[in-house]
Formats: sequence, structure tokens, C-alpha cells
Amino acid sequence: MAQKIDGKAIAAAVRAELKEQVAAMTAAGNTPGLAVILVGDDPASRVYVSNKEKACADVGIRSEEFTLPADTTQEQLLELVHTLNAREDIHGILCQLPLPKHLDDKAVIAAIAPEKDVDAFHAANVGHIMIGDYTFLPCTPAGVMELLHRSNIDVAGKHCVVIGRSNIVGKPMAMLLLHENATVTICHSRTQNLKEVCRGADVLVAAVGRAKFVTPDMVKPGAAVIDVGINRDENGKLCGDVDPAVDEVAGWLTPVPGGVGPMTIAMLLKNTVTAAQK
Ligand code: NAD
Repeated sequence: MAQKIDGKAIAAAVRAELKEQVAAMTAAGNTPGLAVILVGDDPASRVYVSNKEKACADVGIRSEEFTLPADTTQEQLLELVHTLNAREDIHGILCQLPLPKHLDDKAVIAAIAPEKDVDAFHAANVGHIMIGDYTFLPCTPAGVMELLHRSNIDVAGKHCVVIGRSNIVGKPMAMLLLHENATVTICHSRTQNLKEVCRGADVLVAAVGRAKFVTPDMVKPGAAVIDVGINRDENGKLCGDVDPAVDEVAGWLTPVPGGVGPMTIAMLLKNTVTAAQK
């Protein structure tokens, strides 16, 4: 049986540390403030936004929600972003994605002031990450690194395989592992011999978005397996990208739920605190 990497417990520890920092900042008159923009009425986005707001309240960050109707125009949305950019009491701005189809998410991300871009999606922040000189890290990959650090899994010199090459998970994940001296391979939908490549991994990060995609025959015995995926199985139950049977082969494994998910939110809080400290 693999050792469970308990994201829920690790995220609680991170949040407890942040709570102390926020209390000290509030006492000094600088309460971190996060603006959360939600456009339309996508139920999943609504749940994500509520969870983020609850987490803010828990550590003492002031969150302000801006809910816009689904037919909001690009100009109206950009105007809101510009207003928030100018507000001194707002340190972080988060626009919940996906946006309704008629809106251009790239233009919205580009409009957020880089120093308030707590998701670290702005091209300026992505560039800073590439050169290893950053203020913010994107929340999900940063959360994975925190899980590895706090589980004493050192990636230096190890072969780390990331399945997935999205801008928000796969690519930055690979970069953060590289910064910590891992030998990194990025796999994607066109990778040949995926099973063999994965079986060579000391650390395997799955960010595919397909239920139970990583099977035991793809995992090296003793490897650390990090499951980023959030999917529904055939019974509608929440599950990751990793088949639970991998537990028999892996050395470490993150559960879904209770693994990477809580860390993503904890890192958003951390970025908001960092933004307010700057
Ligand atoms: P995405 O759809 O943008 O990217 C998926 C990636 O998987 C692509 O790069 C694609 O090349 C790769 N892929 C698809 N089929 C493949 C195949 N057969 N073989 C190898 N690679 C293949 O998704 P994303 O935004 O990166 O998210 C990935 C998963 O992580 C989703 O389940 C998402 O819900 C989840 N997610 C979780 C968190 C969290 O906090 N836990 C945060 C973000 C995303």
C-alpha cells in the first residue's frame, strides 16, 4: 500500500500559518483583499468561487465577489478589471474560468495588473516563472510542490513525468520541477509509448482530466504519484486521473478528493497574502 499524501491535512497546516500572518497584517492595518469575478451562472464555477471565499474568510482575508450576468460584454468586464486594478484595498484579482463563450479570457487575463494576478496566468508572470524569478506561482503546480516538500520527497536528480501540457497545470508544473533540479518529461495526447515513459518515473504527475487513466502497469514500484485530475466516474462519483489500484504499486499517492484540490485553494490564499505584503 502506498503512503497517503494527505492534501487536506497539509493544506490545513498552510492555512494555519497564513492565518497567523494575516492576523499580524490586519493588526498593522493591511488586511489582504481578494476580488473574485464570476460571470454567468455555471454551477461548478459557483461552487469553486464559494469554496475560495469560505477559505478566505477562514484565514481572515477579505474577499469581495463581483457577480456579472452571462450577457456581460467584454467592455464591461474589462472596465471592472481596470477599476479593481486601481483599488488599493484589493491586492488580488481572480476571474473564475471558463468565461461564457462570447468573452475573450486571454484579454481579461492580460488586463489584470500582474502584481494582482494571484492565479499567475498573466504572460508577465508566466515569463517570470520561466526564468525562475517570480512573486507568484500558479496555484495547482505550487500546491503539488508544497505536497512534495512537506512529504520530504526530494525531486533533485529524479525523473519526473508530467502527463498533460496545459498552461495552467502541465507546463508550469514541469517548470517548477525543473527549477528543483528534476529531470523532467512532459507527456501529452500525442506521446508515443506513454506507458513505458511513465514507468520510468520516480515522480509521476497526472493532469489529464480522464477518470482512472493511470493504471498500475504505468507506475514504477515505489514511485510518488500525484493525481491532479478531478473527474466523475461511471457512477457520477468524484475521482482522479489515477486508478485506485495504483495504490498497490506506488510508494506515495495523493487521494481524490483530499489531495491536490485543497492545496490549490491554500496556494491562492498564499498568493493573496504575498500580494498584500508587496
Ligand atoms: P486540459 O484539458 O487543459 O489538459 C489535459 C492535458 O492532458 C492535455 O495537455 C492533453 O495533451 C493531455 N492528454 C489528453 N489525453 C491524453 C492521453 N490520452 N494521453 C496523454 N495525455 C493526454 O486540462 P487541465 O486544465 O490541465 O486539467 C487537467 C485535470 O486536472 C482536469 O481533470 C482538471 O479538472 C484537473 N484540475 C484540477 C485542479 C485541482 O485543483 N486539483 C486544478 C486544475 C485542474
